[in-house]
Amino acid sequence: MLRLNCPFCGLRDHHEFAYLEDASVQMPSFEDTSEKAWFEAVFLRKNLRGVHVEHWHHIHGCRMILRVERDTQTHVISKVEAAHPSFRQRLSDVNDETKLISKARSKT
Ligand SMILES: [Zn+2]
Repeated sequence: MLRLNCPFCGLRDHHEFAYLEDASVQMPSFEDTSEKAWFEAVFLRKNLRGVHVEHWHHIHGCRMILRVERDTQTHVISKVEAAHPSFRQRLSDVNDETKLISKARSKT
């Protein structure tokens, strides 16, 4: 059974999540009208063996899109973080603030 540690909700069973896509695929710009570039970006995948970066949707939880590093052979999940950079930064800021508050409280 896979369990993902959602940065917003904590450790949850994978049934709460929906796999979305390969997070390593770079979509062409909207100005790029090359049929080949769009075909490759939308339909072609490498089906790698080993650590893979994926997007998962916490559909039965916080509904955030998460960036998950998962080994496709062992299913070991090595990292789960918010997919959007601004949410990652905000979580990092909150964690830093929490550490500062804990440190200040331990001194009193
Ligand atoms: Zn969540």
